[in-house]
Amino acid sequence: MLALRKTAPAPGLVLQDVAEPGRPEAGEVLIEVAAAGICGSDVHVYDWTDGYAFMSSRLPVTLGHEFCGRIAAVGPEVSGLAEGDLVAPIPTIGCMRCTDCAAGFPQRCNFRRTVGLTRDGAFARFVRVPALSCVKLHPGTDPVLAALLEPLCVGDNAANVGDVHFGDVVLVLGPGTIGQAIARAASWRGAAQVVVAGMNDTARLATALQVGATDTLDLALFSNLRSAFLALTNGREADVVFEATGHPASIADGLSVLRKDGVLVSAGIHATPAQIDLTALVRNRQQLRGAHASRRPSWEIMARRLIEMPEQVRPFVSLQLGLEDAIGGFERSRARDVSKVVLRPGGVPA
Ligand SMILES: [Zn+2]
Ligand SMILES: [Zn+2]
Repeated sequence: MLALRKTAPAPGLVLQDVAEPGRPEAGEVLIEVAAAGICGSDVHVYDWTDGYAFMSSRLPVTLGHEFCGRIAAVGPEVSGLAEGDLVAPIPTIGCMRCTDCAAGFPQRCNFRRTVGLTRDGAFARFVRVPALSCVKLHPGTDPVLAALLEPLCVGDNAANVGDVHFGDVVLVLGPGTIGQAIARAASWRGAAQVVVAGMNDTARLATALQVGATDTLDLALFSNLRSAFLALTNGREADVVFEATGHPASIADGLSVLRKDGVLVSAGIHATPAQIDLTALVRNRQQLRGAHASRRPSWEIMARRLIEMPEQVRPFVSLQLGLEDAIGGFERSRARDVSKVVLRPGGVPA
């Protein structure tokens, strides 16, 4: 089968023929991939920017961690899943033997693997995953929307970490899919105003407005984030700021509009350290928190949203492509003239 792989610790990806994964082992299922999204982190892996060296010892590996598909085969010792079920796997896989895994926090596991980063993922026709990682989707779920579950849950998790409340004023720095998903989640939690900021990012800022943002700011047009933001909010500082840019300077930018006792959540992957004024942070009693990946409760909630309000998530997807056109999809993603690009290993339906 065709698979899009990272084969060496250097820039680039290779579309190559590989063997199919074979029969699932005990506790596993084989999934025929229906749809798999290209993530910002996949683009970083393509470019081989700093922050992904942890993958080096696992190469070659097939990318693709945001996906859904139908179960093609069920291994021994699996219950509750059957051939033909539409599922979306949670990509972080714990060892299921340590105390963190036993407590329901596989993302804390020191032995965890991530489908599509440190074990083979979904940019291929078939992928094998542990049955326990699968979230069963509601009948009638659109597979293209289900490929959005992972980023939607990362956004929901970040909104939980930031403790967004009804009536809050929220700033999201970065209009990529994670920034958009945070805007979606903050809006669902009842935020009164959700401002999404970007820099020369017209297409993705437009998408942000369709998925929950109330306002957008193109920072190419303003020299000062604080004055541009306060002009939009009638002088009110942000209750919660989310950073989803990966640019270290945006942490200080975000703190410049955060109210006293406010929370800044960093969700970006930064290639270099950030400089922040800690004394101001202390005196303003602000909190800086990190948010990464997601937990199963978010997946259950977001899986329901896909079936109850599909139109509120459909604008996330800009483009669907066959696997053979994947590199073109990566180039479009990097150029930021589209929002989410979804690959269809079985072909794009007419
Ligand atoms: Zn992702
Ligand atoms: Zn573990």
